[in-house]
Amino acid sequence: MCGIVGYIGGRTAWPIIVKGLQRLEYRGYDSAGVAVLNEGDLKLRKCRGKVSDLVQMVKGQDLSGAVGIGHTRWATHGEPNDVNAHPHVSMNGKFVVVHNGIIENYREIKAHLIEKGYTFKSQTDTEVFANFVESLYLSEKLTAEQAVKAALRRIIGAYGLGIICVDEPNALFAARKGSPLAIGLAEGEYFLASDATPIVEYTDQLIYLEDEQVAVLTRNGYNISNFNDDHVDPVITHVDFDVDNVDKGCYEHYMLKEIHEQPQSIADTMRGRVNPENHTINLGGIADAMPRLASARRIIVVACGTSFHAGLVGEYLFEQYARVPVEVEYASEFRYRNPIINDDDVIVAISQSGETADTLAAIRMAHERGALVLGVCNVVGSSIARETDSGIYTHAGPEIGVASTKAFTSQVVVLAMMAFAVGRRRGVLDEATYASLIDGLSNVPSLISQVLDSAAQIREVARAYQLAQNAIYLGRGYLYPVALEGALKLKEISYVHAEGYPAAEMKHGPIALIDNCMPVFVLATHDKFYDKIVNNIQEVKARKGQVIAIVTKGDSEISKMADYVIEIPVCQEALLPLVAVVPLQLISYYVAVMRGCNVDQPRNLAKSVTVE
Ligand code: GLU
Repeated sequence: MCGIVGYIGGRTAWPIIVKGLQRLEYRGYDSAGVAVLNEGDLKLRKCRGKVSDLVQMVKGQDLSGAVGIGHTRWATHGEPNDVNAHPHVSMNGKFVVVHNGIIENYREIKAHLIEKGYTFKSQTDTEVFANFVESLYLSEKLTAEQAVKAALRRIIGAYGLGIICVDEPNALFAARKGSPLAIGLAEGEYFLASDATPIVEYTDQLIYLEDEQVAVLTRNGYNISNFNDDHVDPVITHVDFDVDNVDKGCYEHYMLKEIHEQPQSIADTMRGRVNPENHTINLGGIADAMPRLASARRIIVVACGTSFHAGLVGEYLFEQYARVPVEVEYASEFRYRNPIINDDDVIVAISQSGETADTLAAIRMAHERGALVLGVCNVVGSSIARETDSGIYTHAGPEIGVASTKAFTSQVVVLAMMAFAVGRRRGVLDEATYASLIDGLSNVPSLISQVLDSAAQIREVARAYQLAQNAIYLGRGYLYPVALEGALKLKEISYVHAEGYPAAEMKHGPIALIDNCMPVFVLATHDKFYDKIVNNIQEVKARKGQVIAIVTKGDSEISKMADYVIEIPVCQEALLPLVAVVPLQLISYYVAVMRGCNVDQPRNLAKSVTVE
């Protein structure tokens, strides 16, 4: 959570920092702040609210200075207000800190500092860290770097930190454990940020700081070392990143742009991997792991949120086409449950950001117990990508909207490619079926384009239900996870209470909720459950519920009973989730817009959950 930006060089830092914060605002938007240093003179500005509120607040003020740090917060300790906003300055004004994450032992450090006479303005764990560094710096007469490292050796938790010491105005410090930090390298200047997006317009040379590393950046160069002062030679990554990807283009919101990008993002996920000409799937990222994956006794998918729903689709795919038993687990439960993991199990960890704290902890545990761990991530070089044995990038491009859309469909495509390839290798998937699945996959981008062409009609359906207080989503088989995902999307951005259920479960409880005010979104395409789903629709209508059915193009039966139908093109059953989820994404988007909600920055949420 939260975005960190830093700059040191020859230019004025403020415009670079504010632009960077705007790019990172998807990570948190409870408050925003900046600190710039101009020859020892520190200027600190921060306020509750968005980066735009900060910009408004400092309008017309002199914020010159060529060293600075900025922050956009997702509060964990202390309510979102002006005082708790970052940066935090230590009591004697020596250290200025921006922080992403949680200092877990902050209470005992705070108690110790209070005994030494320290007072605190905020409720944050971050201010405790700032004061702790300062107390070590002053009492042990250390350099700023030594003081930072001394503090880091004693704190427990997850963090990305940007630090300035006013006594050393020509340096910017950064440290990482658990929360991502990238450093951009350019001639006489350095950029610091929680991800590459604020940096790429200035340089394509990046260092991703590793856990337990500290970077000292000056205008004359940089040094990276671990907490024990051993020098580290970092890997310099060349990023090939189109800045246009991080702008909204002609769309009103990132989420709408990302929904519309899906034909392209799915094609990108398959590029170089799925070959429809000779009907092959080539997954270079997991080539070495393939023998173990194909002989796995069991696959355990660990994920959170939308990625968990992609994992559920993966369960259906792997069991049907590769005949391998699959369990799909919430990473947060799995990691604390003492699960049984054997060395012939394969763990598949799914995370858009590749930084999800619970998923990361789950894969560390699985590794310790001897399992092969594969990653499915979108962000190249992310922690999960680095800590897994091998994996497959989704290559969906940057996803900025907090509600995940294109990452979900790309994750499902990756899982489908894996399931089909494993099935073929295990000899349980015949050549003709394999070839037809590959043709089906290749055709998905065009099917999604057809759904997107009906966006205007879908908007009218959303208009009819924009004031609903509740909603139910029903699906069966491959479309059950899509029902869960549709409900999650509506909750996330419209704040409408929504429940997703396997359609047959409706009778076991949720049917009691149905009355003439309850919209029920039913995934009712032509598949083996069609007749059963038609019965479910009758049951809803018998209780005066409102039915919005997602049907296969040309369906004439359901339109006689449903209040609204949204048609999707004919598609193989196994690939239906990729196509059927799109109208549900659009429904949530339009309902949220009509209700006046902030679609890209829904309340209380942040994009990448790097805390437990
Ligand atoms: N724990 C810190 C706070 O509550 C940092 C949170 C964040 O990552 O934004 O202020």
